Amino acid sequence: GDVDTKSCGSSSVANLAFNLKPRYHFAGLEGTYYERLPYRNHMVLQESAQHVSRFIALANLSNTSKKKYLYAFSIVPMSSMDSAELVKQPLDVTENPYRKEVQKAKHTEVGQEDVASQFFFDLSKQGKKRSSGGGDGQHSKQKQPRKHPQPTGPCWFCLASPEVEKHLVVSIGAHCYLALAKGSLTPDHVLILPIGHYQSVVDLASDVVEEVENYKSALKKFFKSKGSRFVLFERNYRSQHLQLQVVPVPSQNCTTEDIKEAYVFQAQEQQIELLEIPEHSDLKQIVQPGTPYFYVEMDTGEKLFHRIKKNFPLQFGREVLASEAILNIPDKADWRQCKYSREEEETLAKTFREKFEPFDFTLLD
Ligand SMILES: [Zn+2]
Repeated sequence: GDVDTKSCGSSSVANLAFNLKPRYHFAGLEGTYYERLPYRNHMVLQESAQHVSRFIALANLSNTSKKKYLYAFSIVPMSSMDSAELVKQPLDVTENPYRKEVQKAKHTEVGQEDVASQFFFDLSKQGKKRSSGGGDGQHSKQKQPRKHPQPTGPCWFCLASPEVEKHLVVSIGAHCYLALAKGSLTPDHVLILPIGHYQSVVDLASDVVEEVENYKSALKKFFKSKGSRFVLFERNYRSQHLQLQVVPVPSQNCTTEDIKEAYVFQAQEQQIELLEIPEHSDLKQIVQPGTPYFYVEMDTGEKLFHRIKKNFPLQFGREVLASEAILNIPDKADWRQCKYSREEEETLAKTFREKFEPFDFTLLD
């Protein structure tokens, strides 16, 4: 009717509605009454049936043109509804109006999803026995391929984004890359980063995790050859794109035990509970994606973990390393004090690339 749909609406709300699948979605911003035909939340024949969504726009209260501004209805909570009744499709149901747009926005991850569904397909084809607790395989079918979030704005670390400082990149694999840290603590301070947009380690797809591990072991060998061990840390708090910070510490400075003690001690001083977690445990078993956390890992695989509740000192991982107990470069604790010129950065990256080359598995074959 009287609303120009080209100039109103929000792709974020569309995305939200697409993912949340509300049974009712009310809107009031356009000051008009509109009740859309109900739409499907599943793809026919490809996904199991789900409840439909109803979109209803209402006009302003007591508007002069007498457009409808009240909507009366009764709703039975989903939890107390019979599932057949819940997914019953009305005769006038339409396709999901958001699907195309949302999928278009996600086109970059299509390859990823294909891999994921292929993986499930292969599993059932080979007729592998599921663990006795698992049931009939129904679970794997219902499991949606992992949703791969896209950055909400420009991202400094998505390799494809124009904001990336390409001159700092020192190695590129299939899923991850290595870049020198901006304002690095030491000349060999690097970041392991996923090429695509992932927020944290617990969000990573398995093939990305595998390459992260390859980078860790290559860096371990590289730093060992230079008489150092590395410390790795991740702060999944107020960061958009996963950054695994890897900093070498000369073995003569301190032992792995010393490093762990320094972290635990300095955490205690700031009332941060940093706990040792079993060596080969997967962070995914400890935190759900979306939960903020900080963790530090030794090159032996030993890990210290903190679940962030309210606040967390953003530079903590770095401050401990810079402290007297470890690298003893307290004036470098703040990365803003460690600015290099573009030329210096280019030289540092070139030097790193040359030295790392014999250990760089991405350059083989
Ligand atoms: Zn990103």
